Amino acid sequence: MKLIKREKVLLLTQDVLLVNELSEKLGNVGFDVLVASDTTATLKLIELAAPSVVLLDLSMESNIKQDLLTLFNSKGNLVNTALIVLSSGTDSDTMADTFFQGASDFIAKPIQFKELLARIKNQIKIHNRLKDLEDKIKELTKRNSVLEQLAITDSLTELYNKGYILQRLESEMIRSARYNEPISLIILDLDYFKKINDSFGHVAGDNILRKLAKILVESVRDVDIVARYGGEEFIVVCPNTSIGGAAILSERIRENVQNTTFRSGSFDIKLTISLGVSSVSSSSLAGGTINSSKLIEEADLALYKAKASGRNRVAVHTNELGAICIDDSSKYKQLFTKTANTKDKFTH
Ligand code: GH3
Ligand code: MG
Ligand code: MG
Repeated sequence: MKLIKREKVLLLTQDVLLVNELSEKLGNVGFDVLVASDTTATLKLIELAAPSVVLLDLSMESNIKQDLLTLFNSKGNLVNTALIVLSSGTDSDTMADTFFQGASDFIAKPIQFKELLARIKNQIKIHNRLKDLEDKIKELTKRNSVLEQLAITDSLTELYNKGYILQRLESEMIRSARYNEPISLIILDLDYFKKINDSFGHVAGDNILRKLAKILVESVRDVDIVARYGGEEFIVVCPNTSIGGAAILSERIRENVQNTTFRSGSFDIKLTISLGVSSVSSSSLAGGTINSSKLIEEADLALYKAKASGRNRVAVHTNELGAICIDDSSKYKQLFTKTANTKDKFTH
């Protein structure tokens, strides 16, 4: 019968008669037969020709035979090559040994060609099924990682989504507690965004949200995590950043947005944002329980204060004074002298 693809069979033997017999018979039924009689040639042929099946003649010199069996036993890049052992010893010990040493099948000598052919084809079938499975697993793994990425991404802005940032905030707080570092949170919201949608349409609004996402990512450090919290609200988690540092960053973001001209068709649009900041010091983290909801609530309260105080401003939450706007200089100075340290000099 004819094979569609010429499969390669590698014959490992020092028996010239066997080489002649099998080369002819296997060649006649559509196989390419390669021959080797030492480990170096075997490795080279396996690498270059990738044979589907290797036939190992157990009557080879024992050191070569042992080398080859060791080679197959250690597998590595031979995992996809089936090893069929040809042996005149057919006692169960010999058979069991060869299987233990990595053989996939065993044929008794003198060889019945029909049986050899059936066993070779069987190994190729198993090999092809394994290959299909491997390909499917690779494809599924790839799709899985795309799905995993989609599950944590906001489709409009391609930032992280709310579900992800809530989990990440929790794990960053645990990490901060462990390394004795402060952590801060910024929640920001576009001012009067409804008017923009009403005046320029939802598509223009969406484009603005995308552009704002870019500004945010460009304004923060690589270790900060930016996410879309919902609607026109965004969140930035700032690990190893105290309240003073987060206030400086927030002010920089606010200025960056204020200085940006958004465009819709031929219209230039100017926008502002309000920001609320909350923070946990390393000492509070070390002493208390991790409470990410409290941190979010406090940033929300500060955001509310920024909105209520006229928008386009930053407010921070403090335990002593509640939420205060950072342009309220007397109160803010009072806070800042308490919390500022060298780490607060915000730099990229
Ligand atoms: P404020 O300054 O108090 O935040 O006013 P605002 O108009 O921004 O706030 P409000 O909560 O009244 O409205 C938020 C608007 O944000 C409602 C909606 O028009 C807009 N918005 C929310 N999500 C999206 C979105 O995915 N795409 C677009 N284009 N607009 C959105
Ligand atoms: Mg808004
Ligand atoms: Mg809002």
